[in-house]
Amino acid sequence: MTRTTQQWQAADSAHHLHPFTDFKSLAAKGSRVITRGENIYLWDSEGHQILDAMSGLWCVNLGYGRQELIDAATHQLKTLPFYNSFFQTTTPPAIELAELLAEVTPPQFKHVFFSGSGSEGNDTVVRLVRRYWDLMGKPKRDVIISRHNAYHGSTMAGASLGGMSGMHSQGGLPIPGIVHIQQPFWFEQGQGHTRDEFGVIAARWLEEKILAVGADRVAAFIGEPVQGAGGVIVPPDTYWPEIQRICDQYGILLVSDEVICGFGRTGRWFGCETFGFRPDLMTFAKGVTSGYIPLGGVMVGDRVARTMIDKGGEFAHGYTYSGHPVACAVGIASIRVLQREGLVDRVHDELGPHLAWHFSELADHPLVGEAQTCGMMGALQLVRDKATNAVFDPTLEVGMVCRGHCFANGLIMRAVGDRMIVAPPLVMTIGQLDEMAALIRRCLDLTLDALTRRGWV
Ligand SMILES: *Cc1c(COP(=O)(O)O)cnc(C)c1O
Repeated sequence: MTRTTQQWQAADSAHHLHPFTDFKSLAAKGSRVITRGENIYLWDSEGHQILDAMSGLWCVNLGYGRQELIDAATHQLKTLPFYNSFFQTTTPPAIELAELLAEVTPPQFKHVFFSGSGSEGNDTVVRLVRRYWDLMGKPKRDVIISRHNAYHGSTMAGASLGGMSGMHSQGGLPIPGIVHIQQPFWFEQGQGHTRDEFGVIAARWLEEKILAVGADRVAAFIGEPVQGAGGVIVPPDTYWPEIQRICDQYGILLVSDEVICGFGRTGRWFGCETFGFRPDLMTFAKGVTSGYIPLGGVMVGDRVARTMIDKGGEFAHGYTYSGHPVACAVGIASIRVLQREGLVDRVHDELGPHLAWHFSELADHPLVGEAQTCGMMGALQLVRDKATNAVFDPTLEVGMVCRGHCFANGLIMRAVGDRMIVAPPLVMTIGQLDEMAALIRRCLDLTLDALTRRGWV
């Protein structure tokens, strides 16, 4: 920590290519150097304190500096920093985490396949789904249906499952056998219908796609219970039950990408429990270790696990770091904190409702056309005209203007287009939530002033 901010920035832009970044424009302005974290706050190299309303990248659910997690990693690093689980070997942390995951996930899940990240977990999903149908004697059932504006990671399979057009256009994606339907985004596509009506309409797009592809060709449907990176898009309550009905009717595997929604974010242990559906496979990552160390995986439900175990033979797939003992030790410690502190119930009973109340107040702001929350995640849709919900010209990048005011005022809030989103740590106090909401209102006011001065509203 002996360098100045300018020295850090110079070395960063000389050697470091950041993810999802325009390298040239970042080099021109220099990146912000984050040097320290404690509880829900971060500090940058200039000494500014910042309230981290995004939990890092949807992952530091227990806040920074948790001694239990540091101790778990330190102990495991000293005892056995690495051994693999390829050669008919295993390690105690991998076993114990597998056992604990079977305990906290819905009852159909008794098995886990570990990966190093959410993207890798979704690659594993593609391998498992296709292997399952091969073993069932239906190798032609290889098409996976996903949704536009979904985020399932950044590897070749993850980006293909995802529905981000900007990602597909770089690298010839999606890979074959992955198709997309529209997302259940009421604000954009459902106006004229009630939310509940629209939920059923959006779910039926899955049925239409199944019939178009051919029911005997469709292997699985994958979705995030609440789309996270797509802008915290909370589906109508009617959506997932109808998706479940359709998957059941056509015998299609249902995959829940719980990388963000898992481990309490929505007020239940997993998002599928909040929205009332029963997945066959479930991807997790991020919150499993509270982001302290990389870990991901796939929960494999009985339907797929029994087939893979009973008639699968060797499954030719795995990662060096599948079941990494240090990562698993931190995973165990994180789940123990969630259990001991009753954080999932706390999100459900106390924090989630308080965030929802604050967002319903923020919905009165002249710039806000829609305010939505689910547990400890929320979105504010910025609009040009509140009366008609007319949106801004996207080239104005109004969301980025707002995000700039947030950064300058000690708040990390993310912009997805003109949708401002938060996913605060699950350990926040009510007082800290109040502090966050006051900062958000102040930044909305500053944004409105700036837009008014430019004549954009
Ligand atoms: C972040 C994310 C991923 C990808 O996880 P990585 O660890 O970045 O590979 C996959 N799915 C969802 C829903 C995510 O939010």
